[in-house]
Amino acid sequence: MLMQPTDQQLRQQICDIGRRLYQRGLVAGTDGNITARLTDTEVLATPTMLCKGTMQPDDICLVDLSGNQLAGGRTRTSEVLLHLEILRARPDVEAVVHCHAPHATAFAVTGKPVPRGAMPEAEFFLGDVPIAPYETPGTLAFAKTILPFVQRTNACLLANHGTVCYADTLEQAYSLTEILDAYCRILLLAEPLGPIQTLPPQKCEELAELRQQGGFAPPQSSSNLQESR
Ligand SMILES: [Zn+2]
Repeated sequence: MLMQPTDQQLRQQICDIGRRLYQRGLVAGTDGNITARLTDTEVLATPTMLCKGTMQPDDICLVDLSGNQLAGGRTRTSEVLLHLEILRARPDVEAVVHCHAPHATAFAVTGKPVPRGAMPEAEFFLGDVPIAPYETPGTLAFAKTILPFVQRTNACLLANHGTVCYADTLEQAYSLTEILDAYCRILLLAEPLGPIQTLPPQKCEELAELRQQGGFAPPQSSSNLQESR
């Protein structure tokens, strides 16, 4: 069983992920936000109006599951409400990374669905990447746009806005973000060269099975798929 990270370790991890997001160009200015579950009722969240590349552990805020700030000298991000909808809906999720990853966001601003089956990594780690409808960032209406998709994916585009990825560790939530943006980058580079050669359906099914076995599919994704049929 994994040891639960301490408050200080989690704060440091959030700062490290923020630095990686910034260095990789997945956020600009003060964009993006990160949360991690600390206890059953408390969540660590990045502050508003601070570059995610230069955060220190003391900059991180503590909030409850309703978004009330419990501690921290800075004000928590208004987009924490989106993170909390995910954390409340998915008890298996420990961390959420939201950013404006440019290549993935190119799909989000055009409303063009991310094509399936172009590369095995995307099928294995991401599966289907839906697009949640646009709402004004920071509002409760915006936070709730994730709800129709939250059970069946761990990676979602936010229309005209960005990406949100979530997982059982911070590292994995970040990794999904990186994989999604890299996949979208390759798709955009491929587009002028000609049509994408997608994997045969049988090979995609093999990858979907490996995804389930590897624990990368959301816990309720298979039952939800049956419900939606
Ligand atoms: Zn945003």
